[in-house]
Amino acid sequence: MCGVCGCGGGINPGTHEHGHDHGHHDHDHTTGDHHHDHEGFHEHVGPDGAVIRHSHEHDHSPGHAHDHGHDHDHGHGADEAGKSRLLRVEQDILAKNNAYAAANRELFAAAGVFAVNLMSSPGAGKTTLLVRTLTDLKGRHPATVIEGDQQTSLDADRIRATGVPAIQVNTGTGCHLDALMVTRAVGRLGLPPESLLFIENVGNLVCPAGFDLGEAKRVVVLSTTEGEDKPLKYPGMFAGADLLLVNKIDLLPYVTFDVGRMIGYARRIKPGLQVLEVSATTGAGLTAWYDWLAGGLDAAHRRRGHHDH
Ligand code: MG
Repeated sequence: MCGVCGCGGGINPGTHEHGHDHGHHDHDHTTGDHHHDHEGFHEHVGPDGAVIRHSHEHDHSPGHAHDHGHDHDHGHGADEAGKSRLLRVEQDILAKNNAYAAANRELFAAAGVFAVNLMSSPGAGKTTLLVRTLTDLKGRHPATVIEGDQQTSLDADRIRATGVPAIQVNTGTGCHLDALMVTRAVGRLGLPPESLLFIENVGNLVCPAGFDLGEAKRVVVLSTTEGEDKPLKYPGMFAGADLLLVNKIDLLPYVTFDVGRMIGYARRIKPGLQVLEVSATTGAGLTAWYDWLAGGLDAAHRRRGHHDH
């Protein structure tokens, strides 16, 4: 479940719903001793190497306010208690996420890896952009890709067809990647030194903004087939962005999208936000994107040298 928006069948204050399957860890709800501490998820690797991860990320660790030592008398309608419990769980989830993100960031820095968290609505063209980028940069920089989607390994399959190693993380009902998913995916992928790591987040302009993955930069992709007012509607996403890619500029003659107005909105949220206008299908504007990536990789390389010597 998402600690930011509560989506994904998570905690619902007052009704005692916490959408996880009790079948796989037998514990007794009648004893009041509820101290099993599982990692908050259940994961296995599919035949194609895809990580399938069931998202039920509540924390049963000791001290967590989740008391089963009574007759499941949750029908108290205690709104305030429920809200404060939800807030506490949300803080726990984000604190845990931040710890994993910090560890990821250390790992990337030590390896001189430039990690980019790519975020957008569904359909903005993240995967198409990545396929094009990896194809065009082949032989110039080593790269790996983590693909986040709720279901299927379709995107990772598209990436692997370029020859670049990719791992798919299925979040199930979860609406974003979190730092631990990245830790585990990186463990399976390996991190070539001084490489690009692209993390394609789940298509969603809300929840991914709340979860640091340990990336060096956040790139938001917005396409010309979307509403130009999206920066105003989803300010959290744009406030945290390091780069805005306006994709599908080849379609501008056929749509009413006003690029200038959209950039104005985005910079109202994040003054000075860097913007590149590109088309992943025609290749327009991509040289500037590749230069931006090379600059990031260069900085990661320099920081690594600084780290080591
Ligand atoms: Mg995709």
